[in-house]
Amino acid sequence: MRPTRFIRRPGWLRSTRAWIGLGILAPLGMVAVCSAMLLDLRRDAWDKAEQTAQNLLQVIERDVDRNVEIIDLALRGVIENLTLPELEQIAPEYRQRILFDRAVNAKDLGVMLVLDENGDAAYDAANWPARRLNNAQRAYFQAHRADPALGLRFSEPLVSNLTGKPIVVLSRRIDKPDGSFGGVVLGSLSLSYFDRLFQHIKLGPNGTIGLFHKDGTRIVRHPVPNPVVAPNFADSPNVQRFLREERGSFVGVTPSDSIERLYTFTKVGDTPLYLTVALSTDEIEAEWRRKALVIGLLVLALCGVAIGLALLAGRELRRRAAVEAELAQISRTDALTGLPNRRAFDDVFGRAFAEACRRCDPVTLMVVDADHFKRYNDLYGHAIGDRVLQMLARALASVARRPGDLVARIGGEEFAVLLPGTDAEGAAHVAERVHEAVAGLVVEAAGESVGRITVSIGLAFGLPRESGTPADLFGMADAALYEAKATGRNRTCYAVMTAKRGLAA
Ligand code: GH3
Ligand code: MG
Ligand code: MG
Repeated sequence: MRPTRFIRRPGWLRSTRAWIGLGILAPLGMVAVCSAMLLDLRRDAWDKAEQTAQNLLQVIERDVDRNVEIIDLALRGVIENLTLPELEQIAPEYRQRILFDRAVNAKDLGVMLVLDENGDAAYDAANWPARRLNNAQRAYFQAHRADPALGLRFSEPLVSNLTGKPIVVLSRRIDKPDGSFGGVVLGSLSLSYFDRLFQHIKLGPNGTIGLFHKDGTRIVRHPVPNPVVAPNFADSPNVQRFLREERGSFVGVTPSDSIERLYTFTKVGDTPLYLTVALSTDEIEAEWRRKALVIGLLVLALCGVAIGLALLAGRELRRRAAVEAELAQISRTDALTGLPNRRAFDDVFGRAFAEACRRCDPVTLMVVDADHFKRYNDLYGHAIGDRVLQMLARALASVARRPGDLVARIGGEEFAVLLPGTDAEGAAHVAERVHEAVAGLVVEAAGESVGRITVSIGLAFGLPRESGTPADLFGMADAALYEAKATGRNRTCYAVMTAKRGLAA
């Protein structure tokens, strides 16, 4: 007998695993979705920072560009006025006013001068007579003298000879009527203009705005004031990149403070100036990090709880399934003998019969009943009767041991032995061995033998396809048992199901 045959195949195992799997997968899915969301939020933070920097660059660039344009218009105005034929007739102090009439409105314009061909100040927008100075050594003066087609020139940062303040100089060449060099008109733009332009812009504690000249000189660094002598960064890879690419953005480390920043940069119009807005990457992500930490911790905690609950539920389901399986086993097992009971027998018999029917195999069923069993009870008591039943059960199980054989207790002192695939001859042999095994049983009560135990057997054999139902075969075995009892007990009577469902004893 193989006990596992009487347990219904447990489908719960798979379903419990599925529940645990789901309980773990669902939170993992949640973590995945949440991670994707957080990455998206991070991307948003970067997009926003980049957009802010771009907008800022645009506004600053427009302002600088416009001021340069205004100064250039003023310079052109002076050159135009210098060609007026009537200029010579006007008294010198009024001449100066007419010359610089358009410069009056040029906001952020520092000094405005006309230098003659020797570099001496000929006219000064702020003074009459012009303040005495000679700028023939300045690079812009020499550049204009050398190149008639230079146009508007934007100087490198300089310290003003007049005010001692840092400036950049915008200059144009003045041509004499014959086309020869007639001097230079210049307007200076104080670098404090840029400081003023940037002063209200807030970019976070480590955000900076930088303005570079194309020669690498850093003209302004907001919010930290530039040193008095503007430093040159021509060798810095970051600055080289601004100059090379003219417009764009990248993430880089600032060598001076080792802070990683998102650099967004642009060349300012047609000027040799390069503007850069640099935002600390830490600060770009700070808000996102705070959110990510809170959301991440919450989701992880929830997932932890969900997984914990899933594992607990799984354990509970397993425990319950084990209890149910045990109960099912108990409900199909005879408590006294440990054999399958009538319910289990009916199930297995039905399935074995159907299987035999499908495969055209023979089936043998024996019904075994203890002879005069009532006497044992009456003479030696119920406990001894029980012991006899247990011994009978063991004896039967020891005889029917082939895979597929089934021994069950189907009534008080009545057993069934199912022998699928066994032919009539083999079954007769088994019945004989049952009698032998039972005959060998020795039961003692109070030290004395209770006498011989015998059984009667009704054996039915048939090919299920021809033998009708399991109930038919059982009825035949029962009838054979009745016959064995009637003809003296301790014997086997046979019933063979014929093709016409007739009984041959
Ligand atoms: P026969 O040879 O005609 O079968 O006679 P019998 O006495 O065996 O048959 P009968 O049906 O008259 O009696 C069966 C007895 O089996 C009745 C009952 O006391 C006894 N019995 C049934 N179940 C149990 C049980 O679980 N334990 C014990 N000790 N006795 C049982
Ligand atoms: Mg009996
Ligand atoms: Mg009986």
